[in-house]
Amino acid sequence: MPGSPDEHAAAPFAERHAVLIVGGGAAGITVAAELRRHRPGLSVAIVEPSDTHSYQAGWTLVGGGVFTLKQTQRPEQSLIPSGVTWIRQAAASFQPEENAVTLGDGRRIGYQMLVVCPGLQLDWDRVEGLPETLGRNGVCSNYSASSVEYTWHCINTFRGGSALFTQPPMPIKCAGAPQKIMYLAADRLRQRGLLANSGIAFCLAGDTLFSVPFFVPPLQRTVDQYGIGVHYRHELKAVDGPARTALFTARGPDGEAKEVALPFDMIHVTPPQSPPGFVRRSPLAAATGWVDVDPSTLRHTKFSNVFSLGDACSAPNAKTAAAVRLQAPVVTHNLLAALDSQPLPASYDGYGSCPLTVALGKTVLAEFAYGGKVTPTFPLDPRVPRRSAWLLKTKFLPFLYWNIMLKGSEFDIRHRERQFA
Ligand SMILES: Cc1cc2nc3c(=O)[nH]c(=O)nc-3n(C[C@H](O)[C@H](O)[C@H](O)COP(=O)(O)OP(=O)(O)OC[C@H]3O[C@@H](n4cnc5c(N)ncnc54)[C@H](O)[C@@H]3O)c2cc1C
Repeated sequence: MPGSPDEHAAAPFAERHAVLIVGGGAAGITVAAELRRHRPGLSVAIVEPSDTHSYQAGWTLVGGGVFTLKQTQRPEQSLIPSGVTWIRQAAASFQPEENAVTLGDGRRIGYQMLVVCPGLQLDWDRVEGLPETLGRNGVCSNYSASSVEYTWHCINTFRGGSALFTQPPMPIKCAGAPQKIMYLAADRLRQRGLLANSGIAFCLAGDTLFSVPFFVPPLQRTVDQYGIGVHYRHELKAVDGPARTALFTARGPDGEAKEVALPFDMIHVTPPQSPPGFVRRSPLAAATGWVDVDPSTLRHTKFSNVFSLGDACSAPNAKTAAAVRLQAPVVTHNLLAALDSQPLPASYDGYGSCPLTVALGKTVLAEFAYGGKVTPTFPLDPRVPRRSAWLLKTKFLPFLYWNIMLKGSEFDIRHRERQFA
């Protein structure tokens, strides 16, 4: 039977590498580059089907009319570190007992050490009607390269009316992104004198603006300043683009559910998100479906030659490129130690960061670690919206991503836990 474990067991390896990396996104490229810096002779291969690599953290700015999509994309080929083999295929399944990965075309690749980082899955079809209408009828999303420019079109051509912004249940990548674009949109409308004629609503499945309570007050102030209505426990179920109506399941504090239909002139949708199917169905998955790792060493809990990082792993950090930047050296150092049969030297503290663009030119730089610890890089109160944090978001972080992080240079200004009154 094609694709059965027995067939895989019989098939010989098409290739074998010391390190095989599944996913050539933010995490895969960074780890490959760091590994080659430390061991230039190491045989490393990346399994990645896409020809284009996107700096997704820039898509809030594309949707907000600050960046173009082109500024956030580069050919994958230009980012594959020198000496690393690029296998232009999707991984289809894992056979960790046999140290093998099977590709979409049926080939099997063998490895000594495996790094799993294929990101997460965007479940557009879990919202009825959404795939059919996305990119038309005022229905936009920053979560896809194909619809992010339409977000800016919707904001730029909005002439007043109802603007909805949705957020599905957690975890999602960049948990702040659904509201960051809302604030940029509100500020654009304010600049054009349209805010008073607009009803902006944030419809979120959860019951708090942000998972780290320390950052809720500045966000609440932002919501109040723009006059945004916040609808907690509202989960988007269906979108009727031509009728310009969104259907939500709304839960009361007691859990009682009812259906609520809201009209819109534009709606920015953040789709439901989940572990990739081929990860969820594999022996590498935890009960949640994410790759089951120790949250500190990022090594798999059962297979000692498997590591995972980025959006696909089970570590309970915020799923961000900022987290990847600090996870990559941990995986690199621990993987090399495991290769040498040495104890694992590095640990990850759950650092993540979310530059919350509360206005054009102003950002609240939220940095935090496991347990909701507030861990800023700079000794400034991070609740204060700052121009410097906006410049960091729009100028320095893209530069850091393309020229430092993806090149495998482990540059870091140390963050640390700080107390603020
Ligand atoms: C709108 C938006 C705003 C964001 N804002 C921020 C922000 O401000 N700050 C921040 O730090 N982060 C932000 N992020 C999150 C950040 O982009 C991700 O957390 C980061 O890209 C995760 O890296 P990753 O390598 O795990 O996944 P990705 O970068 O998504 O890469 C996964 C790679 O795996 C590949 N892949 C998928 N399936 C397979 C397969 N079967 N086989 C092989 N390869 C496969 C994909 O093609 C992709 O190249 C944002 C994301 C979005 C969408």
